Amino acid sequence: MKRSYPVHVEIESAIEIIKEKIRVSDTELVSLDAADGRVLAQMVTAKENIPPFDRSPYDGYAFRAQDVVCARKEAPVTLQIIEELPAGKAPTKSVGAGQAVKILTGAPIPEGADAVEMFEKTAYTKEWVQLDHPLASGSNICKMGEDVKEGEEMVDEGLKMSPAMIGLLAGLGYSKIRVHKKLKASIISTGSELVSIESRLTPGKIRNSSSYMLRSTLEKWNMDAEIYGIVEDDAAKIAHAIEACSKNSDVILTTGGVSVGDYDLVEEALTRMGAEILLWGLLMKPGMAFVAAMYQGTLILGLSGNPSAAAASLHMVGRPVLFYMAGVKQEPRTKCKVRLLQDFPKKSPSRRFIPGVLRIIDSEAWLDVRGDQGNGMLSIWNACNLIGELPKDTPPLEKGSVIDAYFLYEA
Ligand code: AMP
Ligand code: MG
Repeated sequence: MKRSYPVHVEIESAIEIIKEKIRVSDTELVSLDAADGRVLAQMVTAKENIPPFDRSPYDGYAFRAQDVVCARKEAPVTLQIIEELPAGKAPTKSVGAGQAVKILTGAPIPEGADAVEMFEKTAYTKEWVQLDHPLASGSNICKMGEDVKEGEEMVDEGLKMSPAMIGLLAGLGYSKIRVHKKLKASIISTGSELVSIESRLTPGKIRNSSSYMLRSTLEKWNMDAEIYGIVEDDAAKIAHAIEACSKNSDVILTTGGVSVGDYDLVEEALTRMGAEILLWGLLMKPGMAFVAAMYQGTLILGLSGNPSAAAASLHMVGRPVLFYMAGVKQEPRTKCKVRLLQDFPKKSPSRRFIPGVLRIIDSEAWLDVRGDQGNGMLSIWNACNLIGELPKDTPPLEKGSVIDAYFLYEA
């Protein structure tokens, strides 16, 4: 097949080629209740101080530090209690010489007072409190704005909302927040050998497992994904399915039919329907079989039918591209160094990716990889949370060798 677009492309170039054609999703205002995991589309500047006033971190007494400068065990100072301030009550009196206010945690420091001492470090009755030690001015006072200062830039566009961020925004009085719209994805599985998961297997048929793995991966990434279903190896039918999904999807993932066999018809379908093919084939293993295209504003990522290969290219190319579309500005994949927990006996003439499980042994990160890595095997991904990378031309590796790895989900 004659191709006028890049073929057998490095992962990094593929990401750049695709990014040039896609755009970041629109924004919407959502209630803070529904904002968890969403991608912020606005910068947030603190419109208030947290806390909004100087307050007491303890149950105790507030007074003027200068009144207790001379307090000693043998010469305690007695202060007269003029008011009681539980949390939520505003002071009505100012603290003068020889006076104190009984103050509870979270209550505002009354005017005149500049120190607080805890109940347990004083002697007291209802009328007076006695201190037998001095206290510096400012002791035990949480200053206004010590957590968040009015005008401070709190969170920036492109961050994924975390529980603490939601708490901060709630503390600042944001009941609604602007976020990027969630990406909508459709998943089409091509292959005349495929049957649905509910079906009985007949000779030559296999169940469509990839769609479910892909949907679950996208959902973990906070995207909406719908399984369109199975389409047989027929270019017209594949084109029809892509056309149908493109109407309400930001991205379409297809599986199968992107290799070089007689029945690999996704590329042909894309050509026939007038899609703009961006590239074909990746320099990675597994996951070499791959096509990226645009059709009427929808991105199409054609992944291999092999579930393991589909997962590898989705994680290495799909994830950065889809996160970009979703408005994420943080690095989409956390990279780290790990040691191989087992020998890796194969040579790697191509750049190779190996899924594994992160094990922390004696405070060191190890990658636990199943030895028999086969292209079509989904079981090697079971329970995996990292994907290791072996550069092109890596010889067989011994246990303990250090390699790069990426977190599959969140670090
Ligand atoms: P293909 O990419 O179409 O050449 O398919 C490669 C291999 O993956 C073949 O053995 C297919 O039967 C298998 N395969 C294709 N699609 C799926 C799927 N949705 N679920 C599981 N295996 C599949
Ligand atoms: Mg096939």
